[in-house]
Amino acid sequence: MSELHKFLFDGLPVRGAIVRLTDAWTELLARRAGNTETGAYPPPVAELLGEMCAAGVLMQANIKFNGALVLQVFGDGPVKLAVAEVRSSLALRATATVTASVAPGAQLPDLVNAGGGGRCAITLDPESRLPGQQPYQGVVPLGEASGEKFARLSDVLQHYMRQSEQLDTTLVLAASDQVAAGLLIQRMPGQGEGNLARGQGEVEGGDEDYRRIATLAASLTRDELLSLDVQTILHRLFWEERLLRFEPQQGATGPRFACTCSRERVGAMLRNLGQDEVQSILHERGNVEVGCDFCGRQYHFDKVDATQLFTEPGKQPPVPPGVQ
Ligand SMILES: [Zn+2]
Repeated sequence: MSELHKFLFDGLPVRGAIVRLTDAWTELLARRAGNTETGAYPPPVAELLGEMCAAGVLMQANIKFNGALVLQVFGDGPVKLAVAEVRSSLALRATATVTASVAPGAQLPDLVNAGGGGRCAITLDPESRLPGQQPYQGVVPLGEASGEKFARLSDVLQHYMRQSEQLDTTLVLAASDQVAAGLLIQRMPGQGEGNLARGQGEVEGGDEDYRRIATLAASLTRDELLSLDVQTILHRLFWEERLLRFEPQQGATGPRFACTCSRERVGAMLRNLGQDEVQSILHERGNVEVGCDFCGRQYHFDKVDATQLFTEPGKQPPVPPGVQ
């Protein structure tokens, strides 16, 4: 069962979370593999997407926000776009657009940052948006200002958290075809701007505690993260620390695969495409087939359905007698 565990270090300004996606992850992969148009993800793409899902859950777990956290990686390389979306309920979905062959063992720079133009975007899309309200979005390059490319997604996100959110963060992420998992350690944000008012020693102490715990966390190998259970990982890394554990989130309240697509949303998307475009598809193929990239569900619009999309309610012509 997929699970999320959150914890605090007693008396220290450091928090952590560990996620293991099992059924949620294998379902996501199986749906893609079952899509006859795309087929299964090449293993390096699946690995990136799994790490994105794990990271998305860890980031969502630590913010007080009702809505979707959307992690996107895009750029130049065989993967045009990879998206992982995690809602406050921990329902998650993900997809990647692969437009060219992917070499075995390809890493983040090979997949999306071949020419150095790759980007990572983190969007917080509130559940109920006020009219005209834009979702919050932060975008960062997949490398240092010096031009050095980040080798792994965890490097990108650690950099983002430090630069954009002023949050010291240590992340270990890994994914196989069975498990996508992650460990996050974060220095807790100070109370308002109170840091200056606090004693110097106290601030220094917090730094030292964070550094010690971050070093322990970073010693976790990707193989260990994938193969060991949460209890064993936490004990091995932090047996000398005092951990305060929260109730694990699993099952109905834990991370799980779920798609938010619907016929209404697909209809709205077709309306955005415009009547001319939809008519030309109808003319060419006789009907409009739209597949959801996230879950593989197919939506079918025939001529009558498509016409109705562009007819305002109340102005739809009466159905002639004899026609269903
Ligand atoms: Zn869907």
